[in-house]
Amino acid sequence: MNPLLGQTVPLVPPLYQSSVYTLPDLDALDAVYAGEPGFIYARDGHPNARMLGEQIACLESASWAVVGGSGMSVIAATLLALVSRGDRILASRCLYGRTNQLLTQELPRFGVETELVDCTDLAAVAGALEIPAKLMVVETMSNPLLRVCDVDELASLCRRRGCLTVVDNTFATPMLCRPLERGADLVVESVTKLLGGHGDVTLGAVCGRTLPVEPFAQAISIWGLMGSPFECWLASRGLATLALRVERGSSNAAALAEWLPAQPGVGRVIYPGRTDHPDHATAQRQFTGGFGTMLCFELAGGRDAVNRFLRAAPDVPFSPSLGDVRTTCSYPAATSHRYLPPAERERQGIGPGLLRLSVGIEPLEQIQRAICRGLSAAAS
Ligand SMILES: *Cc1c(COP(=O)(O)O)cnc(C)c1O
Repeated sequence: MNPLLGQTVPLVPPLYQSSVYTLPDLDALDAVYAGEPGFIYARDGHPNARMLGEQIACLESASWAVVGGSGMSVIAATLLALVSRGDRILASRCLYGRTNQLLTQELPRFGVETELVDCTDLAAVAGALEIPAKLMVVETMSNPLLRVCDVDELASLCRRRGCLTVVDNTFATPMLCRPLERGADLVVESVTKLLGGHGDVTLGAVCGRTLPVEPFAQAISIWGLMGSPFECWLASRGLATLALRVERGSSNAAALAEWLPAQPGVGRVIYPGRTDHPDHATAQRQFTGGFGTMLCFELAGGRDAVNRFLRAAPDVPFSPSLGDVRTTCSYPAATSHRYLPPAERERQGIGPGLLRLSVGIEPLEQIQRAICRGLSAAAS
């Protein structure tokens, strides 16, 4: 029995804000090293990371989830756990910018080369797999144009070639898609985004089902990539409302995707729930419970119109992240895709009028009013 609490147990899991644990004797130390419950040093593991990992594993249909101090930290840990000098990686051409840099700028220094492919072109992927690859990195839904990859097909192509499939599921979340159920080997999440959901933590998680957990937990510990107890505690609390937030955000986004094209000054609207989206059929087959909280639209009038929109719509804050309870907007041409040559940006369809919305859980009319104010200013 706990001497302080007696038979009572706090309803809310406590925050274990301790960097180290005490042990009664050497036998107890050996027992923890042998895998019995307990902790020694927080960089190796702590109760709040463990609890968060268990919550996320359950959502992703994983047998384990290892938490790290950011989305990038778990992507790094995944690569550190799996690749060695001389290995070849395949990766989607439209990955999150920092992931792309990690693969194409950092890993070559360690003798690991990455080939980029269009992962919505299965023939191209099959072709690239003719040369052996250790793993393939894709995103369920890409940024910002929300191209949806066919996880079932990609995972089965990779499996046949002995290549592991790593899916970054940040934009979809396990509410929409559980890649491990579709044959992927590993899932990574930026918990910073929708899983945390309140814009107050920077964390990540890597989840697996059949691969052993040890190399990933070890990479987190040895390379110093662990997340802090308080952030894990906050993320656990955020996760409690994930289903509600994604449901409401997705239904708001779907409504906006139908409403926006009729508004003055709005050009193309990009949303996987729209029948005119190139991957609508894949999204319909693969996603459960909606098409997500992300949406893009184009303003006629380019950058100047965007500036007028941003200044007139403070209730849709310009904030280059996503997944908050509030509706926020970002401008890919100057944030996530800033360092692409303008011609390449245009080729990818990221024009000077493109705005990306991360749709929150506010009443729909409130978001529409805020957007209307921005649109009237943009048109003036
Ligand atoms: C934000 C993001 C990441 C990186 O996550 P951090 O928590 O910022 O390190 C990785 N992938 C995607 C798709 C993201 O949106």
